[in-house]
Amino acid sequence: MSKQEEIIKKYEEFANYLTSVNLEELKSTMPRQVLKALHTQLYAINLRSLGYEIGQMVEAMKQEEYPELLGVHHYPDLRDIDFMSEQKKIQLDDYLVSVRKGNIVYNFWRFVKDTDKLQSFLVEKGIIEEVYYLTCPYHNDERLTSKLTLAEFNKIKEAIQTKNQDKIDELLDGTLLDYCDACGTDVEFGQWDEAMGNKEYRLIKDRDKSLDYV
Ligand SMILES: [Zn+2]
Repeated sequence: MSKQEEIIKKYEEFANYLTSVNLEELKSTMPRQVLKALHTQLYAINLRSLGYEIGQMVEAMKQEEYPELLGVHHYPDLRDIDFMSEQKKIQLDDYLVSVRKGNIVYNFWRFVKDTDKLQSFLVEKGIIEEVYYLTCPYHNDERLTSKLTLAEFNKIKEAIQTKNQDKIDELLDGTLLDYCDACGTDVEFGQWDEAMGNKEYRLIKDRDKSLDYV
C-alpha cells in the first residue's frame, strides 16, 4: 500500500467511526457531567488537518514552480504599465480580481497619482469601460438614465443645452427619467447643469485563469 493510500484509508476509517457515533445514544446513556468532561477531553486533543496542511504546502510548491504567481498574473496587460511600481501593479491586479465583471472599478488614486493615465490605459486594454449616466442635479445618487455610451450621453446633453423640447420628449420615452425620488418632484430640463453629468468605470474583462488549474 502506498503512503497516500494508507493515509486515505486511515482518514476514511476515522471519518466512518465519527459518523457512526449516535449523539442521542450518548445522551441517553451518560450523565451531563460525563458528557461535559468528554467535551473538554475531545477539545484538548490536537487533531491535525492534513488536508489543510497539504493544501498550504501544495500552494507554496506551486509558487516555487510558477514564480509569476507572486507578480501580476490575473491581468497580464498590467505588466506593460511603465508609470507604476511593481508593488502597486500587484495591488491593482489583486484589486481587479476582487471586482465582479460588470461592477464599478473606483478609487484609482490608491494606485497612482495620475489616475487619468491609468484609466486610459485600462480602457485601451479593454479591461474597463467608461460608462456615462445622468443624475438629478441636486442628488448625485439619483440616476435619471441607465448606463450610456459617451455618444448617447452627448446626445442627451445637447438636447438639454439647445432646449430641444421635441428631442427631450423623445428621450423621456424610456431613455431619460424626469422624476427624482429624493426631490420628490419632476426634474426641470430647462438648462444643462454640469452636476447632472457623471462618469464611472466598469470591469469588462475576465481575468487570466491559465494558472488556476496547473
Ligand atoms: Zn433630486
